[in-house]
Amino acid sequence: MDHDVVMPMNSATDSDTVCTKQEGWTLEDVGKIIPVRVTPNGSYRNEPVVHVHCQMCTAEFIGPAREAGGFLGGHECLHAWELAQMMGRSDGLVE
Ligand SMILES: [Zn+2]
Repeated sequence: MDHDVVMPMNSATDSDTVCTKQEGWTLEDVGKIIPVRVTPNGSYRNEPVVHVHCQMCTAEFIGPAREAGGFLGGHECLHAWELAQMMGRSDGLVE
């Protein structure tokens, strides 16, 4: 009878850890896993929903890890560009 043992399925726990949303993530989804997310760029599987913020400005992002990386990288690029613009300006004032 040992191999007839059925693991108890706890659906409440499941909805606590799995996020089936494909868009519109909120703080309540942070920490959950998106089992499958299909995009034109590829199919993402078992991705966590994360909440990140830019360290240079006050922007925040909630969504799949892949998009969070794009958000952080995008802000990093923009702020680096802004910095380069400022450096360029002050360089022009130095004789
Ligand atoms: Zn920023």
